[in-house]
Amino acid sequence: MELKIRNLSKTYANGVVALDRVTLTIPAGMFGLLGPNGAGKSTLMRILATLQECDSGSVFLDDIDVLDEKDAVRRMLGYLPQDFGVYPKVTAYELLDHFAQLKGLSHKGRRREVVDGLLQQVNLWEVRNQRLGGFSGGMRQRFGIAQALLGDPRLIIVDEPTAGLDPQERVRFHNLLSDIGEDKTVILSTHIVSDVADLCANMAIIHKGHVLLCGDPQELTYEIEDYIWARIVTKQELPMFQKRHQVISTRLLTGRTLIHVYSESDPGDGFEPARASLEDVYFATIAGRFNAAAGDC
Ligand code: ADP
Repeated sequence: MELKIRNLSKTYANGVVALDRVTLTIPAGMFGLLGPNGAGKSTLMRILATLQECDSGSVFLDDIDVLDEKDAVRRMLGYLPQDFGVYPKVTAYELLDHFAQLKGLSHKGRRREVVDGLLQQVNLWEVRNQRLGGFSGGMRQRFGIAQALLGDPRLIIVDEPTAGLDPQERVRFHNLLSDIGEDKTVILSTHIVSDVADLCANMAIIHKGHVLLCGDPQELTYEIEDYIWARIVTKQELPMFQKRHQVISTRLLTGRTLIHVYSESDPGDGFEPARASLEDVYFATIAGRFNAAAGDC
């Protein structure tokens, strides 16, 4: 299965250009859409999920015209929105059963099988009779995945699912997504680089409504490998280094500041070659330094 997005644009009524001729091919498996807040990720996700209209462009899911054949898309789509709300007073079982009825699972016995199976899959079986209002953020997101999986969709869209989860819940959620990604197309929109580094075989970076970069996270990291340099500086020195070099990230390390710069040759000034990570790819791309193969998305 392949999702082909071509020249997709969307400007809101207030004049904000959320998407500007976005072109992207999303293959089967786990795909990461990475970008800072305001990049246009949710707008793109909502258009793909048939919940919002675009101004121009085309989207095809194999031979289905996503912008035109909305019912056909909805039959094969599962969606976990960024602001997934639950009814706090009903139990996980009751709400999932309700969603299953809305999805058209009218046969009681069959519905019970599906609901039971999904609650087990997302590890909420033990707490199925507890009210959703008492669930942690991670439990709510796993419930959100269970409802997205109703109807056995081939395409799953999850929008910023790990924001606000603690590290343990994030790992658990990653494992769940990675299991699902084995036989479905999963589009994961996020501003968290490690979500993509941990899970995705393919990715794109989106910024201010433009796709800046796409590819295999490992290959992209390999491509930038020779251009990342590191140095520890004091707080006082930092502005001077920022003036003299292309600083792409700064991070506190035991009270001192570790800076990474992008440079195609040795920047001198005491910098050492650094081991590049996807974070370097991300920050160098957002800073406009790195745009390998942006034309081929
Ligand atoms: P992301 O999901 O990457 O944070 P969004 O798609 O939510 O990005 O937003 C992209 C841009 O569009 C932002 O500048 C945002 O403020 C703006 N935007 C989003 N929704 C609306 C809306 N309903 N009306 C006006 N502007 C919007």
